[in-house]
Amino acid sequence: MSYQSNRVGQIPPYLFAEINKKKAAMIEAGIDVIDLGIGDPDLPTPTHIVEKLIEEMQDPKNLKYPSFIGCNEFRQAVADFYERQYDVKLDPNTEVLALIGSKEGIAHLVPTLIDPGDTVLIPDPSYPVYRMATYLANGKSYSMPLKEENNFEPEFSSIPEEILERSKLIFLNYPGNPTAATVDLEFFNRAISFARDHQIPIAHDSAYNMVTFDDYKAPSILQVDGAKEISVEFGSLSKTYNMTGWRIGYVVGNKEIIKALSTLKTNIDTGQFTPIQKAAAFALNSDQSCITYHNQIYRERMTAMLDGLASIGVKVDTPKGSFFVWAPVPKGYTSTEFATSVLEQTGVIITPGNAFGSGGEGYFRVSLSVPNQRLYEAVDRIKQKLEITIV
Ligand SMILES: *Cc1c(COP(=O)(O)O)cnc(C)c1O
Repeated sequence: MSYQSNRVGQIPPYLFAEINKKKAAMIEAGIDVIDLGIGDPDLPTPTHIVEKLIEEMQDPKNLKYPSFIGCNEFRQAVADFYERQYDVKLDPNTEVLALIGSKEGIAHLVPTLIDPGDTVLIPDPSYPVYRMATYLANGKSYSMPLKEENNFEPEFSSIPEEILERSKLIFLNYPGNPTAATVDLEFFNRAISFARDHQIPIAHDSAYNMVTFDDYKAPSILQVDGAKEISVEFGSLSKTYNMTGWRIGYVVGNKEIIKALSTLKTNIDTGQFTPIQKAAAFALNSDQSCITYHNQIYRERMTAMLDGLASIGVKVDTPKGSFFVWAPVPKGYTSTEFATSVLEQTGVIITPGNAFGSGGEGYFRVSLSVPNQRLYEAVDRIKQKLEITIV
């Protein structure tokens, strides 16, 4: 007797849950495992943000049911951030919606925009939530392959007309997880004009918008003229301020889409805890030097990891954003075989590329979100212990 629906029964286990099980078993066996699999920053949330949360929690008004669309302070802070960072003006009342982490909003956007049987255009490889939310909404996923020779940008012109006719949503994500690819505004221009030609809205996931290096600044899709007519952008405080556990994000852009998403959400959740929203507003409004500091740390780790990989013959260009290295597996290995060899020989967990869709086969992802000392230890083990046979 099974108490789950067929729909849920057919979901393959969440990749990271499987890896965590393996990790636990290895730790149990006394192996010193270094986990470069998961994308959860090791650095703490800056103190001024934590202190603001404590302060806001002491006000009884803040402990009641929150506003459905998010408190004024948070929506205004997001609008101000867009104006400062991108020179994009947003109406905080209609063009900004608070989310319980951007993953929540992304997952709920799909049933907001599609009916059963409709198609969603999804980058491959990509963050698994886009595909899973589509499956749970009884939609169809159409994979847009992201190829290295195209800077991991989808080739819109190769999507068949009959697919476009049934498509109700396009997902994009730059700086990308897992590819670490970044784009310039010209790409978003092309994406918006494609979306307009076919009347398919775009949801751009900008979770790593502020995790960038050197003089690269990630653009917002809303910087494209007229983008608000056909797109929304998801953002998150998780990666920018090391606030993954706080669960606070937002969606901005097209007001009809935001209104529809808000209608769906109003019937499911009741919004994020007000003190968390107020502390998040404070994070956005305060001195941003913590971001520069975090990015410097990732940049140094990136250099160390690229150096370690080069020593086993894996060469990757330095990414301009995200805290991931997306690298081709050595010749003669599948993604799974290589990740397994690395784990067994060095105790280092990396993620096989096919975990992000079949388009990720032939690659692996390294997450730089562990303390420096552990990261350098992992690099040393890869340099010294990993014996790979290249055919
Ligand atoms: C981490 C991540 C998110 C989710 O962020 P939350 O706001 O913590 O839900 C969304 N998209 C991508 C690509 C991510 O890597």
